[in-house]
Amino acid sequence: MRGDSAMSPSDAALQSLRRLPAVDVLLQMPAIVDAAGDLPRPLVVDVVRELLNDVRTRLLAGEVTLDVEGRISNGAAVSRSAKANGQRLEQQLAQAAVRRLHAARRRFLTRVVNATGVVLHTNLGRAPLSEAALQAVKDVAAGYSNLEYSVDAGRRGSRHDYCEAMLTRLTGAEAAMVVNNNAAAVLLVLSALAHGREVILSRGEMIEIGGSFRIPEVMEQSGCVLREVGTTNRTHLHDYERVVDEHTAAILKVHPSNYKISGFTASVSAAELAPLASRHGIPLIEDLGSGVLVRTERYGLTREPTVQESVAAGVDVVTFSGDKLLGGPQAGIVVGRKDLIERCKAHPLARALRVDKMTLAALQATLSAYLDGDVEEIPIYAMLDTSVERLWERAAAIVEAVRGGVAVRRGAAPGGDGVGSESTAAAAEAEGASVRIGVTDTISTVGGGSLPGATLPGAGVTLRIRHNSSAGATADSDTAPRRRTLDELAAALRRGLPPIVGRIDGDVLLLDLRTVHPDDDELIARRLTELLNDSHVASSEREATP
Ligand SMILES: *Cc1c(COP(=O)(O)O)cnc(C)c1O
Repeated sequence: MRGDSAMSPSDAALQSLRRLPAVDVLLQMPAIVDAAGDLPRPLVVDVVRELLNDVRTRLLAGEVTLDVEGRISNGAAVSRSAKANGQRLEQQLAQAAVRRLHAARRRFLTRVVNATGVVLHTNLGRAPLSEAALQAVKDVAAGYSNLEYSVDAGRRGSRHDYCEAMLTRLTGAEAAMVVNNNAAAVLLVLSALAHGREVILSRGEMIEIGGSFRIPEVMEQSGCVLREVGTTNRTHLHDYERVVDEHTAAILKVHPSNYKISGFTASVSAAELAPLASRHGIPLIEDLGSGVLVRTERYGLTREPTVQESVAAGVDVVTFSGDKLLGGPQAGIVVGRKDLIERCKAHPLARALRVDKMTLAALQATLSAYLDGDVEEIPIYAMLDTSVERLWERAAAIVEAVRGGVAVRRGAAPGGDGVGSESTAAAAEAEGASVRIGVTDTISTVGGGSLPGATLPGAGVTLRIRHNSSAGATADSDTAPRRRTLDELAAALRRGLPPIVGRIDGDVLLLDLRTVHPDDDELIARRLTELLNDSHVASSEREATP
């Protein structure tokens, strides 16, 4: 008989290994079933198996040990009893499995709560779709449709004809077509109308949209030759006039969607360019970017030129996005002169860049809302239209709910059943700090490559790290740890499901309610309560295995 103290670490490790539960036991635990959601079963099994393998490896390497109570810890203590409480161990493994399953689900395309305040957040999928658009997608996509079938004629039809009647009606253009996105629209239009010839563009409009969409490069791809005119800040009509000749295929205008040139500037409007283009028998093309159909001033925003205005100014072909200020699905819309749109529809690229039935269905429903005058049904306009007072009320209700649910936890010790990690909240408290929750005024942007510089007042929930004993600390030593802890709070909110994405603004973590659907307020309150109550939430991901 050997005493526990004489036991070599590997003996202890081997003994510990025997106490690990089987994969199947973990798979049946309700917390794990719940965290797995609708992840495919084989992936769930993989996650649990990997977790157990990792724990096994670390036990054998002596990196972690099982203590008397069956808790995994990375302290130096060697297990003294084989009669440990297996329940504890299972719970702890389940917690780790839940974190890993959540992480696996976050790597799938999943819904997130956008609390950034950026209405058209390109990274978060730009415009949310309306109920009507979703229903239309369901109606069309769940079965067969007349996508490329003329029901009247009983033979092949064209998908490029859908939405055309509504788009021409809304914009005043003669014809329209829809492709995959606006980048595709620009590529198609230039390829169909200017291949092998010159396109004139002002140096003030040689833009990059992000995601590597650069106008000069798209022009190169489409096989046309860029003819730059003017300077970065000033371009005049005579600059265009001087270079138009028999090599010119078109004049292109690009709306500066995501930046503003201010100061000593001059550009030539579409209305001024239209007569020049028409005199030379060449099309004037405009990439409008956002493609708004309503007056943005109505929403307290700066003025964004509308598609109707471009068409009325004499632009021959206008391209714009479906999922920016139009508030519909990702799509590129081309409207303009019938003969030119026909050339685009007939071009081989039209096939490569075509939209699917779900996009067309969603766009059709979105355009219907404009025609019916029900713009407020479109989610981005409902968001833009929400009053600051209403947002304040919602923020205050969330804060109240959280305050009611958060236990007073002065001087609470770092969590006892973790794997040797300290939580954000606990760590902050150890430094004499706590997390304060409150309501604040916010300024949000529209984003998504539209309305550069335009802002909207709003309201949101703030989380602030309060250092109670920071008197005398220098600004630097005070700010650095505070910032780190805010980053960790933000990361903790992103780690739950659905992830909540806020933004850090100076020394606060801000959840801007402008972009949050009111139905999600309760979820935010619950997750904030959990975050402030559970010292493990904040640091779970950095935690040692499991
Ligand atoms: C956003 C934008 C594009 C790209 O549109 P996508 O729909 O994202 O492809 C092109 N041009 C301008 C001016 C834009 O603002």
